[in-house]
Amino acid sequence: MSAQWTQLTFKLNNGRQIPAVGLGTWHSDDARNAVKTALMTGYRHIDTAQAYRNEAAVGEGIKLAGVPRESIFLSTKINNMNHKHVAQTMEESLQKLQTDYVDLVLMHWPVSIDPAGEKQTVVYKDWKFTDTWREMEKLVETGKARSIGVSNFGIRNLETLLASARIVPAVCQNELHPHCPSTKLVDFCKSKGIHATAYSCLGSSNSPLADDKTVKAIADAHGKTIQQVLLVWGLKRGTSVIPKSEKEYRIQSNFDLDGLDLTEEEMHKLSSLPERFKVCKEWLPESVFSSDEEGRDFYDGDKLFEERK
Ligand code: NAP
Repeated sequence: MSAQWTQLTFKLNNGRQIPAVGLGTWHSDDARNAVKTALMTGYRHIDTAQAYRNEAAVGEGIKLAGVPRESIFLSTKINNMNHKHVAQTMEESLQKLQTDYVDLVLMHWPVSIDPAGEKQTVVYKDWKFTDTWREMEKLVETGKARSIGVSNFGIRNLETLLASARIVPAVCQNELHPHCPSTKLVDFCKSKGIHATAYSCLGSSNSPLADDKTVKAIADAHGKTIQQVLLVWGLKRGTSVIPKSEKEYRIQSNFDLDGLDLTEEEMHKLSSLPERFKVCKEWLPESVFSSDEEGRDFYDGDKLFEERK
């Protein structure tokens, strides 16, 4: 039977299902239309965040599409500066999204930022991300979120979280593409029953992957686009994928995946590309990633040191 990626869902550790292919909305200036187009195309998973400042537009897009709310998997993320006000900020998100609950809320980054400081440079001295998680656990109890998860967590921070968590994160959303495969992290998540979602799965804007000769050769062999191959690579690894587009034809072609399968050899080639790049590098006052988890020679040693100084 040929692969039916668009109907695929992954089972989360709480028994709920996450659709394997979703629409990303970071930098989406017209999220309203993008969401409407995606839902009318057949997508049933939409990813937004407080930080994207488009939750209201996402909510409008959902209403415009006319797809029943209960058929849609809707996720948002708690902003770094809202860690001390989880319940209140969740209410604000729900209002903007015009819904009573989200299917998933993620802690966007494992860094609790004091909004009184300038440009996200000051970390709270009296608050840790484990405190934020405790507040997020209450969102499940109050029914505001069906599942809770994390984002931009490496193994070290996941271990810290798991040591005190009552609820194991259902999802860990991280940058994952063939130039940032983070195989150790994906395997770690799997071993703990945490589903991994791939963000920047196409390599984001101006993606070097769009010119990668190996990916192009595989795409040509299947008569498919580079982006379709990248998405199926992610899906075959067991990760959900959330490509962002605002263009109708791309939203549709990123969902035109059924029947495309990659051989073991092709998967191996894509997983072994020597190039490395990362869209979301270290930018917060606390370091959250480790090159070891992200894959072989992710940064060359000196460059890593330079960036972290
Ligand atoms: P992406 O989905 O990897 O790539 C999006 C870029 O690729 C856009 O410039 C888009 O342009 C273009 N594109 C989309 N489909 C294409 C196609 N078929 N052919 C050629 N170009 C195409 O990047 P992303 O937005 O960084 O990541 C996806 C989603 O993950 C985000 O939108 C967001 O929801 C989530 N995310 C989460 C985090 C986090 O910290 N948790 C961080 C980054 C991203 P057009 O719009 O012009 O088509």
